[in-house]
Amino acid sequence: MTASENQVCPLYIGGKWVTPAGKPASPVYNPSRGSVIASVPMCGPVEVAAAVAAAKAAFPDWRDTPPNERAQVLFRAKILLEDAFEDLCLGIATEHGKTLSEARGDLRRGIEVVEYACGIPSLLMGESLENIARGIDCHTDRHPLGIVAGICPFNFPALVPMWMWPTAIACGNTFILKPSEKVPLTMQRVVDLLEKAGLPPGVMNIIHGGRECVDAILEHPDVKAISFVGSTPVAREIHRKGTIHGKRVQAAGGAKNFIILMPDADVDRTVEAVKDGAFGCAGERCMAGSTAVAVGEAGERLLPALADLVKAMKVGPTDVREVQPDMGAVISSEHRARVAGLIDAGERAGAVVLADGRPTVVKEAPEGFFLGPTLIDQVAESNPLMETEVFGPVLAVMRARTLDEAIATANRQAFGNGAAIFTNSGKAAREFRRRVRAGMIGINVGVPAPLAYFPFSGWNDSFFGDLHIQGKEGVEFYTQRKTTTTRWFGFGDGEIWAK
Ligand code: NAD
Repeated sequence: MTASENQVCPLYIGGKWVTPAGKPASPVYNPSRGSVIASVPMCGPVEVAAAVAAAKAAFPDWRDTPPNERAQVLFRAKILLEDAFEDLCLGIATEHGKTLSEARGDLRRGIEVVEYACGIPSLLMGESLENIARGIDCHTDRHPLGIVAGICPFNFPALVPMWMWPTAIACGNTFILKPSEKVPLTMQRVVDLLEKAGLPPGVMNIIHGGRECVDAILEHPDVKAISFVGSTPVAREIHRKGTIHGKRVQAAGGAKNFIILMPDADVDRTVEAVKDGAFGCAGERCMAGSTAVAVGEAGERLLPALADLVKAMKVGPTDVREVQPDMGAVISSEHRARVAGLIDAGERAGAVVLADGRPTVVKEAPEGFFLGPTLIDQVAESNPLMETEVFGPVLAVMRARTLDEAIATANRQAFGNGAAIFTNSGKAAREFRRRVRAGMIGINVGVPAPLAYFPFSGWNDSFFGDLHIQGKEGVEFYTQRKTTTTRWFGFGDGEIWAK
C-alpha cells in the first residue's frame, strides 16, 4: 500500500489493510508547507482487540519457525529497504520536516537494527553446564514472550519503531505497532515491504490512535510487553500502568542533554559538533545537545564562532529532493509557538539572545512551521528554559567557573539521557565520564547515540524500566529464559548398551 494524497491511514491487522469506520480523524501535516497530507483514525479498544487477536493467532507458527528462517525474512526486508531507501527518506522528510540527510540517518540507523536482528540465531543461544551434579546437566534457552507492543514518538518516524519490531519479531514474538499519530506514513510503507519480504500475516500489525488506544493496549491481558518511547510524563505513566497490568515495560522518556565546553577544546571542530548536536533535526532529538555549559574562558573562545555558524544556517522546506536546507521545520504550529514562547520567557528572565530564530520567514514556504536556530547565552539555572525539555532549535548556554561546577549543574537536572564534554584533557574527560549522571556519554562527540549493537541506555527521568532498548538488552527484553535440568537414569537393555 502506498500513501496517496490525503489518505486516511488504514490499520494493518492480520496481513490486511483495514479502514475502521466512524473514528475521529487526526490530521497528518507536511510541516514544510503547513498542509494536511493524510489523517489517522483515532482507534480504541475494539480495534486493539482485533489486532491482538490477529497477533495471537499468528504467534504459535511464528514462535515455531526456526530462528534462521525468521532471519531470512529480515534479510529480504533489509534488501527491500535498501532498494526503497531514497523514496522512504523523502517520505520521512515530508511527514516530519527534517532534512533529507537527517532522514537518511533516521532510516540508516533503523536498517542497522534489522541487520543486528538478522544475527538472531547467535543472539538467542543459551548457556549450558554439563554435570552440575553427577549425571545431571543444565541448560538455559530463550523463549519469546508472545504478543508485544511498541508505542512511538514523532521525532524518528523510521528509527524508533525499528528499535523495536526487528528484534521483537526476530525473537519469535508477534508485534503491534502504534506509530505516532503525527508521522504514521513511513511505517505504513515499511510494513508493505515486510509483507513482500514474506512476513506471515499477523506477525506485524499496525494500529493508530492516541491515549485511548494506548490504554487499551496497556490493559489487554494478552499483551505481554510494552516498548514505549516518548515524553517523560507519558513514559512514567505507561510504565506505571503497564506494570500494574502485569506487563514487562521499557519506557524511554525525554531529555535535556548537557554539553560541557572546556577552555582547551578545539575551536573549529567543537563549534561544528555543538551546532550539529543542538540544531540537527531542528533540535527534536532526545539526544540533542540542548544546553551547553561553558567553563572559564570557553565562552569567549567558542561562542563568537558558534554564533556565526548558527546565523549562517539556511532554514527551509525539506520535501523537495533537489533543494535541501541546513534545517527544516518543527513538527507543528503549536510546537513552534511553544518553543518561541520559551525563548521569549528565557530572554525576559535575563538571558542574552546571540542568534534569534524567531523572526525567520521562509519565502518559498510561507505556511511552513519554521523557527530558525536560536543561540541564547547567560542562561541561569532558574531560567524557564531550564525547567523543561525544549525539544526545538534552541541552544541555551550557561556559564560555570570550574569543571566541578559544570558537572554539578548537569547533575542537578532530572533527566539523564546524554551528556558530552569537549576538551583536549584526558583527565577532565575521565572525571566527567565517571561523575556525570547520564546514561550515554560523548567525549568530543556531540550526539553520543549508540548504534544498534549497544543499549540506548538513558538514566533517571529519561528511562523507566530495567532493560533498555537495542542490543543485547533488547533481546533480553523480548525473551524469557527457560532453564532445564536433565538427568537420565539408566541405559536400555541389550548388548548395544554394553560398556
Ligand atoms: P509523546 O509523549 O507526546 O507521544 C509519544 C507517544 O505516546 C505517541 O504515540 C502518542 O500518541 C502517545 N501518547 C501521547 N500522550 C499519551 C497519553 N497521555 N497516554 C498514552 N499515550 C500517549 O511524545 P512525542 O511528542 O511524540 O515525542 C517527543 C518526545 O519523545 C520527547 O520528549 C523526546 O525526548 C522523546 N524521545 C525520547 C527518546 C529516548 O530514547 N529517550 C527517543 C525519541 C524521543
